[in-house]
Amino acid sequence: MTRLKRISYSFLLLQLLLISCKTVPITGRKQLSIIPSSTMQQLSEEGYRQQISNTPLSSNKSETERVKRVGRKIISAVEKYLQQEGQSNRIAGFNWEINLLESKEANAFCMEGGKIAFYTGIMKYCPSDDAIAVVMGHEIAHAIAHHGGERMSQMLVTQAGGTTLNLAMRNQPNLVRNLTLASYGVGSQVGVLLPFSRTHETEADRMGLIFMKMAGYNPHEAARFWERMAAGSKGSPPKWLSTHPDHQTRIENLKKWANE
Ligand SMILES: [Zn+2]
Repeated sequence: MTRLKRISYSFLLLQLLLISCKTVPITGRKQLSIIPSSTMQQLSEEGYRQQISNTPLSSNKSETERVKRVGRKIISAVEKYLQQEGQSNRIAGFNWEINLLESKEANAFCMEGGKIAFYTGIMKYCPSDDAIAVVMGHEIAHAIAHHGGERMSQMLVTQAGGTTLNLAMRNQPNLVRNLTLASYGVGSQVGVLLPFSRTHETEADRMGLIFMKMAGYNPHEAARFWERMAAGSKGSPPKWLSTHPDHQTRIENLKKWANE
């Protein structure tokens, strides 16, 4: 490579890094964002439809309504917050949807684009609206922080041999669909279940606490919820815990932050 070529190559790379760097609200962490939010939203929409069609909706009307009500309150708090901060672009194109699915699995997720699902299995850890708000705030935070796109990039490297997303979508559409689901902690049948990184978890915990408090829920419930989850993990661990590791550190942090 000639010197000139090398310089222009480095310049291109630098430009690419600059345009693909974004800042996470609240924590201010700089993140590399290679996959556009619009692409993640499209993939999430497909993954979500697949998940919803494979799992029946809960027939419990009042519990479904509770989950939706808490979700709507947190969503409007989040939208207000992002607007105040001039960061509404974080949720551009989001089309929120909340469903309660009938499954023993103790799990919940929010995919990019605002596609939220709670499984009835997690409801036994949620005796109050405050507890639902803990899970809801945390999962919505993952979506607002675009953790799915970051994880997707990592997984393309480890699972698809570093191929580009476009190429993978063309050649291995099933793999891409499964990786998308796995990016949001939806393991389903594929066996790819990557725990969220500590950075992502801490970020989602902090943002989630702030969102639930803004929506009028009690942030002190967060540590109690995780204690219940940890106690319930003896025997068959709730799925949520396997993608959300290190609950002891988490509980201590949540107690500290709830008092701030
Ligand atoms: Zn999480």
